[in-house]
Amino acid sequence: MRSPLLVLTALVSSLGATGAAAQSGAATPESLVAAAKRAAGLDYQGTFTRICVAPDNSNVAPRPQPTAGAAPPAVARAAPDRATWYAQPYKVFDDLYFIGTQIHSSWALVTTQGIIVIDTLFDYAVEPEIVDGLTKLGLDPRNIKYVLISHAHGDHDQGAALLQSRYGAKVVMGAADWEATLTRPATAAGGVPKRDVAVGPEGYKLTLGGTTVDVIATPGHTPGTLSFVFPVKDRGRALTVAYSGGTAFNFPRVADNFAIYRDSARKMGEAVGRAGATVLMTNHTEFDRAWDRARLAQLPRAAGEKHPYETDAATVKRYFEMTGLCAESQRLSMN
Ligand SMILES: [Zn+2]
Repeated sequence: MRSPLLVLTALVSSLGATGAAAQSGAATPESLVAAAKRAAGLDYQGTFTRICVAPDNSNVAPRPQPTAGAAPPAVARAAPDRATWYAQPYKVFDDLYFIGTQIHSSWALVTTQGIIVIDTLFDYAVEPEIVDGLTKLGLDPRNIKYVLISHAHGDHDQGAALLQSRYGAKVVMGAADWEATLTRPATAAGGVPKRDVAVGPEGYKLTLGGTTVDVIATPGHTPGTLSFVFPVKDRGRALTVAYSGGTAFNFPRVADNFAIYRDSARKMGEAVGRAGATVLMTNHTEFDRAWDRARLAQLPRAAGEKHPYETDAATVKRYFEMTGLCAESQRLSMN
């Protein structure tokens, strides 16, 4: 049997850590946090702080609502003051439009055969942001063909039932998250969507109008969390987006859950490396500054100046290196 030290060393190097922990061979929760901090660099400081420094956890006393990122209640509640969340819609890439709030992302990926909506916000935001947002952008919400749900928490899925019932959009969700969703009461905020496409561990390729979204099962944040890799165009130039479907550690604090999260981070790191993704997106604007970047994308650019969302393949991979190291640090701290 391999010694625990060897196993840990292999684990750290496979996660891509190159710092003191890997060099000395003695991975500790602290050394993994240090490696995660290096992986975060200047690009992902907020996300690093959120999940590596005093991360949330569902064994911790629940925080007051509403709080960005906390698992929201399944039952209806009063909508917060519109000034605290409403965001204008923006065309961000040639074929990708921001229709989210100041806090949560929703995107419209427009193909020649219709629209794929990625994440659907709280119920109170679906009409003003998604329905009215598409209309303001000159797009027709009746063309929504698919709704991709990154995970079944209300801040991302409460709008799904409306888009399904009103426009006939097919809802795509992780199989395990469908199980949780279908147990909700009919009175749940936003209603309960009917099961359309349930994605298992093998993933799913969603093709519409020549655009293919690679749907990757990345359990961890929830058991059915999905992440996405898909192409966009920036002024005619093809770019690849990596969309991370779940971030915070607000799940039951069990070592296995952190191992699952860590393994999904590794899987995404490999997938985005193969795809050559140079754009990193998440579903909370705090993690990828989506609302800021959507607005920055409206500014004129000098010749050769990159899109505000474009980085490079190594920077995108570092995001998943960091999240995997943070999860492994938590797992190790429980032993
Ligand atoms: Zn969530």
